Amino acid sequence: MTKRLYYDSSEIHEFDSVVEAITPPSPEQPRPTVILRETAFYPTSGGQVHDLGWLTFNGERLRVAEVADGEDGRIVHYLEASPKLPVAGAPVHGSIDSERRRDHMQQHTGQHVLSAAFVELYQMPTVSFHMGEEYCSIDLATPSVDSEQIVTAEKRANQIVYEDRPVRVRYVSRAEAEKLGLRKLPPAERDELRLVEVADFDLSACGGTHVGSSGQIGSILLRKSEKVRQGTRVEFVCGNRAVRMARRDYSALNEAAALFSTQLWDVPEQIRKNAEESKSLRKQKEDALDELAGLMALAALHNQPETSRPKIVVRVFSDRDINFAKLFAQKVTRTGTPAIALVASAVDPPGIVFAQAGSTADMGALLKQALSSVGGRGGGSRDFAQGGVPAGSKINLEQLLREAAVTIGT
Ligand SMILES: [Zn+2]
Repeated sequence: MTKRLYYDSSEIHEFDSVVEAITPPSPEQPRPTVILRETAFYPTSGGQVHDLGWLTFNGERLRVAEVADGEDGRIVHYLEASPKLPVAGAPVHGSIDSERRRDHMQQHTGQHVLSAAFVELYQMPTVSFHMGEEYCSIDLATPSVDSEQIVTAEKRANQIVYEDRPVRVRYVSRAEAEKLGLRKLPPAERDELRLVEVADFDLSACGGTHVGSSGQIGSILLRKSEKVRQGTRVEFVCGNRAVRMARRDYSALNEAAALFSTQLWDVPEQIRKNAEESKSLRKQKEDALDELAGLMALAALHNQPETSRPKIVVRVFSDRDINFAKLFAQKVTRTGTPAIALVASAVDPPGIVFAQAGSTADMGALLKQALSSVGGRGGGSRDFAQGGVPAGSKINLEQLLREAAVTIGT
C-alpha cells in the first residue's frame, strides 16, 4: 500500500520518496508508470480529480500527467514519456502543482458546505459530486430546485464561508461513525473511517483534500440547475474559479451592453426589444415581397398580347431566390386569367418553377422534359412543379424556359 501523505495534510506539496516499482512504456500503456513508497499526489476519486506535478531524480524532471488508484491500495503515477526513468529503489522528489491542488481543495471543501446547506435547508441529499475543468456540480436527490432555493442555499453556504469555521480531519471506527450521524456514510469497506468536519455544520466521511478552514473556500457561486436522471444537477464554482467566472460573465455582459449602448442590467430588455423589432421587420419584408411579386405578376401578364390564351409568362430572376420565383409564379396563376408561369431563379442553387391555371398543359411532365436534357432534378403535379439544376452549372435558364414555352405551343 502506498502511504498517502495527503491524508495527514493537504498542505504537503513537496516530498521525498523512493521508487517501489516502475513500468516502462508498452503498446498497451504508452506512458511509464511509477509506484512510490509514499506520495502526496492525490489520485482521482470521490469526485475530486487527480493532481499534476513533477518527479525529480538525478537532476531529471519528469512530468506526472495522471494519478490513479491502483490495485492493493497502491497509487499509480502516470508519467509523460521520457528517455530517462528512475529504477526501483531510487530516491525521488515529488512536487505537486500547488495552484491546481489549492483550486481542488477550494472546490471540494465548498462542495461539503454546499451539500450540507441543501440538507439543512431543504433535506435534499447529495448523491454525487463532479469536478470539471470549469465547473463543479452536485446531483441532489430531488425532482427540482427553484431559483429561490438556489439563492437561499448559496447565501447560507457563503455565511459558513465567512464564519471561517475550522475544517478538521479525524479517524473513527465504523461503529463510532454510525453513532455520529454523518451526512454521508460510505459503503462498508473499511473498519476505520476518515471524517472531515466543518465545525458544527458538516460531518462526513471523505478521503479528499480540503482547506484548513471554511474561509479559505473564498466564496461559493451557484450557477445553473437542471433536471438529470437521478434528480437535479446544481453547478457551482468556488474561490478563484468564482472570481474568474464572474469576470468572464462581466466582460461578456459589458460587451453586450456596449453594443446596445446601454447599462448592463438593461441588456435583457434590449434583447427582448430587438427580437420583437426583428420579428416585425421580417413580417414587413414578407408583406412587401408578396406585394412586389403580385405587382410584377400583373405587369408581366399585362405585357402579353391580349389574344394569347393562355398567357405564358417566362421570367428568369438573376437577383431573387427560388422562394420569390415561386411566389411570382403563384401570383401569375391566381389572377383568374388562364396563365402559365415558367420561372427560374439564377441565385445559387438555381431553381425552376412551372405553374399553370386554366390550361390543359401538364407542368410536372413539362418540367421533367425540360430538366432531362440538363441533368436537373424535380417534379410535381399538373398545376405546379419545381426543380433544380446542378449548382454552379453554366446552363442558360432563359433558353431552357423559352424552349419549354415552345413545347406548350405545339
Ligand atoms: Zn471531501
